[in-house]
Amino acid sequence: MNLYGRFSILRRFVWVLVAQVFLAWLPPANGAAPAAEMGTSVVILEFHGMKQGVIAKNLKNLPHFRELINGPSDCGAYTYLPRVLTTVPGGSVPDITAMYTGVYPRKTGIVSTTWFDRKTAKTRNPLSYSQQRINNILRRNHVKTIFDYLHNAGGKSMTAMLMVTKGSDWSLKSGVFFWGNAATLGFLRNRRWIPDSSYIDRKTLSAFLSGHLMSYHKSLEGVFQRYHAIPDLMALEFLGTDLISHYPPADLRKRCSSIAEIQGAYAIRVLDPLVGKLIRFLNKTGRYETTVFFLISDHGFSRILKHVRDKAVDESLRKVFSLPGWRTSEQSADAVIMPGASTKDIYLKNRSTRNWMDPPRLLGDVKPAIDLLLEKNELRDCLNALVIWQYPGERNEGPLETRDQWWVFDWRDYLADGKHKGNTAFVDALRPLSAIKKSFTLYDYVMRGLQMQYTRETTPDIKLINKKGYYFEPDRGKYGHHGSYYRDDCLVSFWIAGPGLARIIPGRHVLTRTASVLDLAPMVLHILGIPVPPRLDGSDPLATLNAKAVHLSSNCAP
Ligand SMILES: [Zn+2]
Repeated sequence: MNLYGRFSILRRFVWVLVAQVFLAWLPPANGAAPAAEMGTSVVILEFHGMKQGVIAKNLKNLPHFRELINGPSDCGAYTYLPRVLTTVPGGSVPDITAMYTGVYPRKTGIVSTTWFDRKTAKTRNPLSYSQQRINNILRRNHVKTIFDYLHNAGGKSMTAMLMVTKGSDWSLKSGVFFWGNAATLGFLRNRRWIPDSSYIDRKTLSAFLSGHLMSYHKSLEGVFQRYHAIPDLMALEFLGTDLISHYPPADLRKRCSSIAEIQGAYAIRVLDPLVGKLIRFLNKTGRYETTVFFLISDHGFSRILKHVRDKAVDESLRKVFSLPGWRTSEQSADAVIMPGASTKDIYLKNRSTRNWMDPPRLLGDVKPAIDLLLEKNELRDCLNALVIWQYPGERNEGPLETRDQWWVFDWRDYLADGKHKGNTAFVDALRPLSAIKKSFTLYDYVMRGLQMQYTRETTPDIKLINKKGYYFEPDRGKYGHHGSYYRDDCLVSFWIAGPGLARIIPGRHVLTRTASVLDLAPMVLHILGIPVPPRLDGSDPLATLNAKAVHLSSNCAP
């Protein structure tokens, strides 16, 4: 490129930058002031990937969390939900979308972290640079978010680093500088191009409070200065807990620290000061006293016990099935494999009609694929359960189909010595979904999760579910992972606290029943005094608080 070409690109870049700065300072299109002048505000602090009980266990070393939860003189009201299940055993993206909409993935359309759409014969990934794909899918499927419900009730909301922002009035996004700096810092600190966790979380809070680069007008300070009020609902996603659990620093690795220890140390070192900064800021606005905080997490975490080669599944199937590659499009392939970590979702084409929307033949397509997969020691070693999708009313080679939607394939029985692995043995090894009880402690949850995850266009035909701690993960430097069907990944804890809570739910309560991340939307609407819409999959445990009351000291005024 000649000098002039380079110069003209530079000039264009400067112009785009100037235009962006100018546009960023224009008032937002919906310029009305935030709704209730002195009503309750809700702040959701989502600690991405934080395991069950981490805050509770470390509370004595978390002075700012303690101030927020217990109150400055230990008289604060709180409701603690120690046992909250994620929506589907899957991963962060479908869980987060379900959490902020209150409905299961099959309704949101964000059915997994990556999925194959049989109708368009394309792999779909809901993440993009513009961070609008999830919102667009929700729009297309007419799914409302918690921010939409608030907006319809006349309230205002703000989000920071959230992937689901449909309906929010001000949303602060990360940008290329943000991730670039975070990765460089990560490299300098740990010699790895992995974003630095503490940088990400500190920047998330500072952007939320006063904006980064050109987003001051969308920050809390910017909004407060302009409207002299703060939004009714603010949601911040802190990604650091997830990042540091995937890639903990060398000293913690060397000590073989548990994920709970890694997260506890991170909460003490990084998260607690951030909570302190947020409290001080809200105090300055005079709104801290009317604020209710939700401290939540979208999924738990596990230590990786065994890295399974990501390519093992491809290698097995490739012997007979053509897979997408340089010369084969997904449309013309026979099978498409998703890059899952604790599960592998395999989509099969009906190789007789060659139409992706036709159910693959149970014996003509599904059986040969399963035979190839089970041939490989490497896959048998990591496999716990194997499920096969049913096509009620469409495919009739199998035994009587039920409303289960899935068969459990008893692969151990099928492979038992002396058995001929023919068609009859294959059909005989199909069991109702309830047979999954043998494989999982949380079997009710696993069954429901499987039934509520996919749509007709997006359901895989075969799902391999790994043993506990076994993850398909090519990066051997990865220490922890999530998305499995076991309690470490599926259970988290929620806290509802803050000085604004006492006038809505006085006293201290510990919820005895298991809640779901789907309950977040109904609970937040409850606190904001907005009727919970019908047809949500989540329910509102705060409506009929079935909880153990915790006694306050006699010094606390009633
Ligand atoms: Zn993660």
